[in-house]
Amino acid sequence: MTVSDTLVPYPEAIERYEPVIGLETHVELGTRTKMFCGCTTAFGAEPNSQVCPVCLGLPGSLPVVNRAAIEYTIRIGLALNCTIAEWCRFARKNYFYPDMPKNFQISQYDEPLCTDGYLDVEVNGKTVRVGIERVHLEEDTGKSLHVGGATGRIHGAEYSLVDYNRAGIPLVEIVTKPITGTDADAPVAARLYVTELRDLLRSLHVSDVRMEEGSLRCDVNTSLAPRGASQWGTRTETKNVNSLRSVERAVHFEIERQAAVLDAGGRVIQETRHFHEDTGTTTSGRSKEEAQDYRYFPEPDLVPVAPPRDWVEQIRASLPEAPAARRARLRAEWDMSEADMTALSNAGALDLVADTVAAGASPADARKWWLGELSRRAHDTETELAVLAITPAQVARVAALVAAGTLNDRLARDVIDAVLAGEGAPDEVVEARGLAVVSDDSALTAAVDEAIAANPEVAAKIRDGKIAAAGVLVGAVRKATGGKADAARVRELILERLT
Ligand SMILES: [Zn+2]
Repeated sequence: MTVSDTLVPYPEAIERYEPVIGLETHVELGTRTKMFCGCTTAFGAEPNSQVCPVCLGLPGSLPVVNRAAIEYTIRIGLALNCTIAEWCRFARKNYFYPDMPKNFQISQYDEPLCTDGYLDVEVNGKTVRVGIERVHLEEDTGKSLHVGGATGRIHGAEYSLVDYNRAGIPLVEIVTKPITGTDADAPVAARLYVTELRDLLRSLHVSDVRMEEGSLRCDVNTSLAPRGASQWGTRTETKNVNSLRSVERAVHFEIERQAAVLDAGGRVIQETRHFHEDTGTTTSGRSKEEAQDYRYFPEPDLVPVAPPRDWVEQIRASLPEAPAARRARLRAEWDMSEADMTALSNAGALDLVADTVAAGASPADARKWWLGELSRRAHDTETELAVLAITPAQVARVAALVAAGTLNDRLARDVIDAVLAGEGAPDEVVEARGLAVVSDDSALTAAVDEAIAANPEVAAKIRDGKIAAAGVLVGAVRKATGGKADAARVRELILERLT
């Protein structure tokens, strides 16, 4: 076993070392067309069907900047409290990689569009202000597919295919300043930062921010220094961290690994590492390139970008309420606990509950249906709540039918099942299936009499004053009526007859 394979248990590692983390997040913008050409950006098309001379880098082709991508980037920069450059240029980042057709990437280097902002993140009841170093715009690369190996990686593959559909899609990189002082919470802080950033980006409508489809990607930097040291340690950069949970696990693992290296008197190597979802570990990738390796120079085929100030102010005025402010406002309006709000956020149900409340349901009812029954349905079918075939207005209608006594909870679940199965709106289902609660005495009396006749011993007990036994008869009546009987009224009718 080598030094790099051993780990120091997390609490011990934190006792002796202070972690500093940093995050570089790549966001694919949801523009209709690519960064420098008119090719569509739609996801999931046939490989190499969305390409043209510009994004394939053919000789003589010239790029033109996508205005919407500039606008989206300014939106992101303003939402992150950044300064928007009055004048900036794109740069060529030179490196050779098969999924990059031009052998350089058009990016931004020393003149990013947005600089020096921040994002506040709640970590275990404490506000951590994460500094934003820069937000810059670049183009995405294509995608390599390694065929024939066991792991899908290039090692062991027989051959590789490349798909350039993604090449040239606008990509925003958001780089934090080093995040210090989070101590044992560093892994959680990393996850919560990415979560907050994702929610913010979603609210700005600039990207669909799906980590599983790669439209939000994260590299996590971690370094450790002995407590009280005047200098930070050497950082590693962990790539391919493709879920929120993995962000936390990657930092956690790197802290335990680097502590072991330092304990043994070794030094942490500045390198790129790969995160492995199955084991929660990282392994060494390549040693990290320095900026000079990329031979950056200003992109000669593009004019500088100089967004007019009135345009920037117009964009600022159009920004939506920030997710954190919205959560605080809704929490107060709905009178919910912080834990309830967190549960709604984590389930992706905040907007659905807001829409259900707007359609007339009480916050408690909206929360109950979305986090209970509907979350179960989403889980069973492995889909997200938002794509279930029921609208917030329909959920509000079901809640109203329950509140009015037309449905009980069991019937309401049947109605929801039918709506999800495409049988129509709640009222149509109630009508078509005859699902309404039966509280009409004439319809219930016969069933009550039958239940009493069929259970003479129970009836005798009730006559003797053991009223609790009535539950058995209520159950029998409800069973006989397919769950539709109004339980409270049935109980009254039974007691009227037997006491
Ligand atoms: Zn193109």
